[in-house]
Amino acid sequence: MKVELDLSKRPDAAPAPKSLAGLSLPALKAEMEALGVPPKKAGMRAKQIRRWAHHMGCQDFMAMTDIAKELREQLTEAYHLDRPEIADHQVSVDGTQKWLVRFQPGVEGESVFIPDVSKSGALCVSSQVGCTLNCTFCHTGTQKLVRNLTAQEIVAQVLIARDAIEEWPSSMENRRLTNIVFMGMGEPLYNLDNVAEAIDTISDGDGIAIGRRRITVSTAGVAPKIPELGQRTGAMLAISLHAVRDDLRDEIVPINRKYDLQTLFEAIRAYPDLGNSKRVTFEYVMLKGVNDSLAEARDLVKLLRGVPAKINLIPFNPWPGSPYECSDWETIEAFAEVVNRAGYASPIRTPRGRDIFAACGQLRSESVKKSAAEKRREALAAEH
Ligand code: SAH
Repeated sequence: MKVELDLSKRPDAAPAPKSLAGLSLPALKAEMEALGVPPKKAGMRAKQIRRWAHHMGCQDFMAMTDIAKELREQLTEAYHLDRPEIADHQVSVDGTQKWLVRFQPGVEGESVFIPDVSKSGALCVSSQVGCTLNCTFCHTGTQKLVRNLTAQEIVAQVLIARDAIEEWPSSMENRRLTNIVFMGMGEPLYNLDNVAEAIDTISDGDGIAIGRRRITVSTAGVAPKIPELGQRTGAMLAISLHAVRDDLRDEIVPINRKYDLQTLFEAIRAYPDLGNSKRVTFEYVMLKGVNDSLAEARDLVKLLRGVPAKINLIPFNPWPGSPYECSDWETIEAFAEVVNRAGYASPIRTPRGRDIFAACGQLRSESVKKSAAEKRREALAAEH
């Protein structure tokens, strides 16, 4: 088949070549049509490119040998397969890796790869740059929302991690990057269209092939969007709970003033497939003297009644100027025991990547403000 391409006749003549890496299948098809591929063939070409780009990790159209050479040349002229620029990349002594990704000048977000001892590993991705929520213990909460990330930009974070740990093709055995968690910057449910499109691409078995049940979306509690998240994505649900009473949650997770605990739990109970096979992860950051009493642990158990759940207790990660301290270790363990005895798994999350400031809520601004060397020196000093 002969495909003709006359760039000068395109309505968007002479734009800078753009990247196809990370685009969803429908978006790839639209690009093929824009390029002049006949509609009947556009779907097939999109699938071929999807396979090369997202299954093989290929970054060169000329290597796509099942596509006619002429079209490969046209693709090379009109597009590329680059990832966004990596503004900073750090590797912790514990294997945690962090990227500061420059989506465009001034629009930077972070992703963190957290390898696990058991060979599995999660990539924590951002869905927005900045955030609108202002949770008082979260560093991102101190930063204004810059903008939503596009689906392509969310997927690009996965491609960048895959490149770095050399896990192409997607079908390779014993992959270390096995899970995706939307626990980086931003509130994913305020960017649900793009998050859902990104999850379609990430979970595509002929592409990146990380299954929907290995993808977890964490929300501070945008209640009306919670059931919709499940219907549209099939992803696992995580809730940033952090308090078991409305008065306290109003203060530390201010979206609670809009959707209180009762409204939140009604939405959680409506999450598709709950109980059948899915359980909800509740995140609970341990703040000394604020939310860490045994009475609160018992109230937590009551609140969760009837919800298949796992509770992640997260030691608070202080940041410069943060108004809280992390609970004492014994307090966290005692809290965990109450929850555990009620039959819920309640792992205490071990802090990872301390030396590279990879901890949650510490994304971007640390990296923007300080040089890598400065940060490492500070972290070392803090350890000793
Ligand atoms: N907006 C979503 C996604 C961000 S997830 C949400 O709130 O769920 C980031 C997770 O890290 C949340 O559970 C958040 O509460 C937690 N977190 C933020 N700052 C933290 C800090 N300083 N220490 C420990 N956990 C923190």
